Amino acid sequence: MNGHRTGIPEVGAPSDAAGGNAPGMVDSSGPFALTDLRCGACARPHVLDLGTGWAEHAPDAYDCPRWESVMPLWQLLDRAGFDLNPSGAERPTRNGRPIPWLTPVTAAGPHWRLIHRGRLGQAQRHGLCQVCGLSVTDDEAMLVVDTDGWCLTSAALHPACAKLSSVTCPVVARTGIVRAANSGSLRRDGEIAPEIGMTQRWQLLSHPR
Ligand SMILES: [Zn+2]
Ligand SMILES: [Zn+2]
Repeated sequence: MNGHRTGIPEVGAPSDAAGGNAPGMVDSSGPFALTDLRCGACARPHVLDLGTGWAEHAPDAYDCPRWESVMPLWQLLDRAGFDLNPSGAERPTRNGRPIPWLTPVTAAGPHWRLIHRGRLGQAQRHGLCQVCGLSVTDDEAMLVVDTDGWCLTSAALHPACAKLSSVTCPVVARTGIVRAANSGSLRRDGEIAPEIGMTQRWQLLSHPR
């Protein structure tokens, strides 16, 4: 999708940088220093556990009153006072790939394997598109589901955003089926309480034929 967005800056430093924390490699394993997300008391960078998505205070910093602080990356981003991945039809990109609104983004780039659970909760509660973060009407809402009808990510998409995902997102391209939300009945399983780690799982049940 190179070139389909103009004037939108790439997120993160150049991806050919070397080193363990090289930008563009943020979905590798191991702890990751969040140099743009520093402790408000001692200014040390928070450390991201890439497996769990939890951001912790720098370890062994017992001189800081907040040394025990730990929270999901998305909560830390919400408190940071800046947003590298705002809502809007024009998506920021990484290596030419558009970044969905639900992907947490730090100065290092998008954290593709993590989800901004707070935004997922908002999308489920208010009918927002998972790709652009804008409202989707019931008539136009699309879903990306697996063969059993479970949504890969349980939130709606605009038709254009669903198309963008199926072209640019490897997971959607490989395992997703794009369907109109009104082509079946939607089961919404669970509660929306992202602050305690809970969002709904959606399943699109086909109408009997
Ligand atoms: Zn501190
Ligand atoms: Zn959209």
